Amino acid sequence: MKNNIGLFWLKEDFRISKNLGLSTASKNHEEVVVFYLYKKKKFENQEAQKWWISKSLKNFKNKLDEYKINLEIIEVENYKSFFDNLFLKKNFSIYWNKTYEPKYLQFDKYLISNLKKNKIEFNIFKGNILNEFNEIKKGDGTPFKVFTPFWKNAEKFFLDKVPSKNKKVSKCRKKISFFKNAISENKIYPKRNWYKKFEKYWDPSEDNALEQLKNFINERIESYSEGRNFPNIEGTSKLSPFIKHGQIHVETIWEECSKIKRSGVDKYLAEIGWREFNHSLINYFPHMLHRNYSKKFDKFPWKQNVKFLSAWKKGLTGYPIVDAGMRELYSVGWMHNRVRMIVGSFLVKHLLINWTEGEKYFKNCLLDYNEANNVSGWQWVAGCGADAAPYFRIFNPILQGEKFDKDGSYVKKWIPELRNVPKKFIHKPWELNNEKILKIGKQYPHPIVVHEDARTKALEAFKKI
Ligand SMILES: Cc1cc2nc3c(=O)[nH]c(=O)nc-3n(C[C@H](O)[C@H](O)[C@H](O)COP(=O)(O)OP(=O)(O)OC[C@H]3O[C@@H](n4cnc5c(N)ncnc54)[C@H](O)[C@@H]3O)c2cc1C
Repeated sequence: MKNNIGLFWLKEDFRISKNLGLSTASKNHEEVVVFYLYKKKKFENQEAQKWWISKSLKNFKNKLDEYKINLEIIEVENYKSFFDNLFLKKNFSIYWNKTYEPKYLQFDKYLISNLKKNKIEFNIFKGNILNEFNEIKKGDGTPFKVFTPFWKNAEKFFLDKVPSKNKKVSKCRKKISFFKNAISENKIYPKRNWYKKFEKYWDPSEDNALEQLKNFINERIESYSEGRNFPNIEGTSKLSPFIKHGQIHVETIWEECSKIKRSGVDKYLAEIGWREFNHSLINYFPHMLHRNYSKKFDKFPWKQNVKFLSAWKKGLTGYPIVDAGMRELYSVGWMHNRVRMIVGSFLVKHLLINWTEGEKYFKNCLLDYNEANNVSGWQWVAGCGADAAPYFRIFNPILQGEKFDKDGSYVKKWIPELRNVPKKFIHKPWELNNEKILKIGKQYPHPIVVHEDARTKALEAFKKI
């Protein structure tokens, strides 16, 4: 047992189980302080996440109390100056779990070299991922650009090495404070009313994540392969915000799923695999964080259309499945994957607006916003990503609605104006022609573009590149 203080830098690991950084710190030190760095600027364009984080901090603080560990939140302008000051103290050892955005891995390098220089002991651990991205490569040492072979290798690699044991967090001797300028999590809690809606749907804690996984495995995993496509049913796990903020480790998901032999399990784990693949892509091809992965798309004739973009964001395009998705996003901070694909395709192909606009808006509204998944998801939809949907595959929003929301219940849930529209017209309300039921153009907009025209224009634009 070391007699200095163990500091654990809390990033995206709001959990007690499978938290190697925290469990090792608590094993090595009698006194441990967990600290969270709140950089206001980072969240200016990630507003929904502020809600999740302030709630997570509160719940995790309570949990850590049981272990006599203090959680201190420090507001910082930038990480570098915070750590440069911290290095002057020297009466501590520091621990953290990695996060996999290239800029954070780069910052780890800065920290490591300065911790060494200052002779401060540090320990870094694998983060919320099955494999480190650089462990999975093709035979010739180059990275995979296609998902299926990537996942075949990644799955085997993960199974061959023994997954890390769930080391327990130990109780500390006494709860101490380390930082003088710690703030309360209430300072992060956003002021706008928008966020209050989220309270109805989510309670960000580790216990809830584990409970949600258990229910999903018991009740829904069997029908996941099929059920995951239908936004009008609870067909997916809805664990994405918990995974993003580390209320649950993906190894725990893997282990719990592997205990059962039921259909749906492989498909579900393959989705976790897409997350691994996306993390690998952004690290090997970091240019895709800001630009098209496929450079030929740099010449794509995107249109700037503020009116269309605003209608899309507000859920007022006149296409019910698109509008329902956008309103779900705004109300819940989450959107079903099938609908993410539909609204994404509509923005880039029907409206010819650059995918980066959609990426930015999702970043601000999603509680599960994750740089790797969001950028890759958008580039997949736009056709410019690695292993992406071909550009000429243009979703028809009417047919998508009729196929995946047959009875229109998803649309009716999010668009109250359409509640009385009969099933036959629910995905094309402009054809209803019955003002007693719906005054189209007044209660709900006419389509902002005509599907067939938009499709032709999109294909013409694509021909140009
Ligand atoms: C345009 C677009 C943007 C997206 N942005 C994000 C994002 O910012 N953050 C995010 O976590 N996911 C994103 N996704 C992927 C996917 O939509 C969500 O992960 C999924 O809807 C989360 O719901 P769930 O937890 O019920 O998923 P489930 O179907 O239960 O899947 C379990 C987990 O697997 C992972 N996963 C599932 N589908 C995908 C996928 N297609 N790609 C990568 N990982 C996946 C997630 O971690 C998810 O929680 C995006 C997809 C698209 C098309």
